[in-house]
Amino acid sequence: MSAFIIDAFEYSRHKERREGEIAVADLSRLADESADRSGVLHWVLIGGVDSLGHPQLTMSVTGAIKIMCQRCLTPFAFDIDAESVLVLAKDEESADEIDALLDNDEIDVIVGTKSLNIIELIEDEALLALPLSPKHPVCPDPSALEGLKSSKKESPFAMLKNLKQQ
Ligand SMILES: [Zn+2]
Repeated sequence: MSAFIIDAFEYSRHKERREGEIAVADLSRLADESADRSGVLHWVLIGGVDSLGHPQLTMSVTGAIKIMCQRCLTPFAFDIDAESVLVLAKDEESADEIDALLDNDEIDVIVGTKSLNIIELIEDEALLALPLSPKHPVCPDPSALEGLKSSKKESPFAMLKNLKQQ
């Protein structure tokens, strides 16, 4: 657990970089949103400073997660490819000041701590990337799905045999 707790300010100051993989099943809030808790996310956390000298963290999360289509109610793989820049403030008051100063919706200002949980950052980033109302671009035809199921039952060897006979 401690491997995932960082001093956010020190991390930024030293321009540290860490990356790793984490299973969707290990992120309880995200797993609740997924159809089957399967999948692995890759994350990269880079410390640095912005052009005004504020400490910042850049969190990137990529990977696939199965979510339920709200239209046809079958699960589909959704690719997460998200990146956020988090500027660190020392308290709520300065967070508001920096937020007003930057005036940039693309950048989040958070109150940094000496015990920032990387896993929570990863999970927040992934949750934000999920569509509010997930849908297939084009829902699969239910009859096509049925066909897929029935052909799966037949062993590949039986299918080969059939081909040879033709
Ligand atoms: Zn669908």
